[in-house]
Amino acid sequence: MSSLFDSWQRQINYLRISVTDHCNLGCVYCSVSSLPHLHRSEILSYEEIERVVRAAAGMGISKVRLTGGEPLVRPDLSKLVSMIARIEGIDDISLTSNGILLARYAGELKEAGLSRVNVSLDTLKEDRFKRITGGDRLKEVLAGIEAAHQAGLEPVKINVVVLRGINDDELLDFARKSIDQGWHVRFIEFMPFGTPGSEDLETFATQEISERIQSLGRLEPDTGPAGNGPARYYRFPGAKGTIGFITPMTEHFCATCNRLRLTSDGQLRPCLLDEDEIGLRAILRCGADTEEIRQVVRQAVAMKRECHQLNGGVAPQTVRRPMCQIGG
Ligand code: SAM
Repeated sequence: MSSLFDSWQRQINYLRISVTDHCNLGCVYCSVSSLPHLHRSEILSYEEIERVVRAAAGMGISKVRLTGGEPLVRPDLSKLVSMIARIEGIDDISLTSNGILLARYAGELKEAGLSRVNVSLDTLKEDRFKRITGGDRLKEVLAGIEAAHQAGLEPVKINVVVLRGINDDELLDFARKSIDQGWHVRFIEFMPFGTPGSEDLETFATQEISERIQSLGRLEPDTGPAGNGPARYYRFPGAKGTIGFITPMTEHFCATCNRLRLTSDGQLRPCLLDEDEIGLRAILRCGADTEEIRQVVRQAVAMKRECHQLNGGVAPQTVRRPMCQIGG
C-alpha cells in the first residue's frame, strides 16, 4: 500500500469532505447568512467525489470523513457512503453531523458502510439550543445520538464548542454524561474566524475547562475511543465514557496533522486555517484521469505548511470561506 508524506514527514492518510454547504441549523459561530449558498452545479456530484477518493486511496488515503454544512441534508448520503466503502484501501468512513436527521438515517448509513459518527451538541438545555443554533431541535439531536448507538455507529463522539458566558455553565453536565451514560465528550476551543455575528463570542481555554470539571474527580489520561483526530483523552475513574480536549487556540496540533480537505465546490485545501486551495472541479469536469487527479493531490500535500497561523492562541484573520463550505 502506498503512503503519502508532506515536506515535514507527516503522513497524510485522512480526507475530510464537505458534501454540502447547506445546513438545517444556523449556529451563531458558523452560519453566514450574508453569503449566498453555492449553486447546485458548483457542488461536486457523488460520482466526482468518488473519483477523487478512489485516486487518493491509491496514494495512501485510507480514512474519509463526510461533513459540511450538514451532510445529512444532502439527499441519499448513504449512496455516497456505499460508493466510498467499495473503494479498495478505504478502511474507515466517519461522519460529522448535528444529529437532527440521524434517527432517520443511522441504520441505512451503517448498512452502507459508515463506521462511526461525531455529533455536535453545545448545550443540553432546550431554550439555549435555540439561541445557539437558531433551531428548536434538541430532542431530535438526542434521539439521533440514541439511534447512532442503536445502529452500532461506534464510537459516537459528542463535540461541544465551549463559549464563555454562553454554555460554560454546562461543563459539569456534559462531563457527567461520560460517567452516567458512557458518552465520549470532546470539548473544543472556539476559533474566532470572524464570522459575522460571532464577534462577541469568546474562547474558553482547555486548561480552565479541565480544572472546572475535575471537581467531579481526577481525570486520568486515556487512549480514548477510536479515531483520527487531534483530541487528547482522559477518563474519570470508573467512567465508561471519556473526555477529550481539542485545543486549536491554546496548543496547536499541526505536528501530527494527517489530513487534507475537499471543499463542497471541489477545492483541495491543505489546512482549515490557511486560505490556500487548489482546484479539482474543473479538471474533474474536463475528464481528468486518475493520474491527473493524483497530481493535484500531490500539489495540495506539497502546499501543507509546517504550522498554521493560529499559533500561540492568536486569532486568525477573517476566514474568507465559511466553515460549512470547507467542512468543519
Ligand atoms: N453540521 C455538522 C455538525 O454540526 O457537526 C458538520 C459541520 S460543522 C461546521 C462541524 C463542526 O465544526 C461542529 O462540531 C462545529 O461545532 C464546529 N465548528 C464550527 N465553527 C467553529 C468554530 N468557529 N470554532 C470551533 N468549532 C467550530
